Amino acid sequence: MRIHLKTLGCRLNEAELETWSRDFQARGHAMTGNAEEADLLVVNTCAVTEEAVRKSRKLLGRSSRQNPNARLVVSGCFASLDPNAALEMEGVDLVINNQDKERLVELVSEKLDLTVMAEAATEPEATGLLERGRQRAFIKVQDGCRYRCAFCIVTLARGEERSRPVREIIAEINRLYGEGIREVVLTGVHIGGYGSDIGASLAGLIRRILNETDIPRLRIGSIEPWDLPRDFWSLFNNPRFMPHLHLPLQSGSDSVLRRMARRCRSGEYRQLFKQATRQVADLNVTTDIIVGFPGETEAEWQQTLDFVEETGFGDLHIFAYSPRQGTKAATLPDPVSREVKRRRSETLHRLNERLRRQTLKRHIGRTFPVLIEGQGVRGWGGYTPNYLRISLETGKGGSLENRIVRVRAEGLSADGRELRGRLQADRTQ
Ligand code: SF4
Repeated sequence: MRIHLKTLGCRLNEAELETWSRDFQARGHAMTGNAEEADLLVVNTCAVTEEAVRKSRKLLGRSSRQNPNARLVVSGCFASLDPNAALEMEGVDLVINNQDKERLVELVSEKLDLTVMAEAATEPEATGLLERGRQRAFIKVQDGCRYRCAFCIVTLARGEERSRPVREIIAEINRLYGEGIREVVLTGVHIGGYGSDIGASLAGLIRRILNETDIPRLRIGSIEPWDLPRDFWSLFNNPRFMPHLHLPLQSGSDSVLRRMARRCRSGEYRQLFKQATRQVADLNVTTDIIVGFPGETEAEWQQTLDFVEETGFGDLHIFAYSPRQGTKAATLPDPVSREVKRRRSETLHRLNERLRRQTLKRHIGRTFPVLIEGQGVRGWGGYTPNYLRISLETGKGGSLENRIVRVRAEGLSADGRELRGRLQADRTQ
């Protein structure tokens, strides 16, 4: 069969698509990038916001209309939170909820009676990540979360924590490295909780990846500012473990954090930030901020602005609060008006632009090993180890795509959103 996979939402959803692609090929099926010629369509949905649910529904509708003859399977958070609504969507043949995602290919083969063409079952060809212009691979290491932050629907959609075995993760990274991938990102719902169910730990996993693979660049995805393993900072002594952390703060006000049922107050976060930046050279910390959580007063909002100003984040991901049915926050009183949310978001975006520019300026004059991810309007582009975007003039030489080259930062782009650099001809990796 020819199979087409689509996804919305987070890196975890993307990582799951890579695994399904491999598993389908191992059963002799062919992957196609063209939905209209596929015999089977699989859509991995998202439900982090009402908007994400709307987009998931729209994608399912379009997929069914684009190719009404194909079988249509839906999985992901929208389908897990509301399986009946997903099954009622036009053209949907099967719903696989998040808890069964690891077995999706097996269940689809069984329930839709997919013919396994054993003779066609080959060692799955390369993931096609590089062909698809992707130099970084997302590796799912765990799923689910034991916590119940008041605004979070993910913990309800993805269930209890479950970790992948260490050897399986290492085997996947070695395979991807063999295929030319130079950078992997460990991702999950609550990766700080990795191993809690299998007697392992995130620090242990990272140490084994650094010891048992040759992957040049290892990153971790978003990690909550608690449950960090004790000996975490020493792991960054290995130059292959990239000095960037995305540590969601959500609010700088303790009274808001309390209503959010977050496990980290502003004082603890400040402590953690100081400890991290003291112990890890060049560490870039980025974060998430929710604007307009129910009941957020002007004074509480000012606390968030002051906290962001004093802390010096490398970049902010800014989300205007949107209520999610089923979460505790959706039942809280005193919703913040759309107008106030818009005004506060604008203020925070302006502050972020100023702080990001300051962070970038501090790196001018320095030279970094950069994994070139492709060529855009600004020439070749990629990220420094501490996850700062940098682009460089397109030289006369051959393609730099998927190469780790040394680049000297010489200035900022006109919009101040990234560094501009020059290739250092002396050493390439
Ligand atoms: S820790 Fe993260 S995934 Fe878990 S409930 Fe809180 S926000 Fe959601």
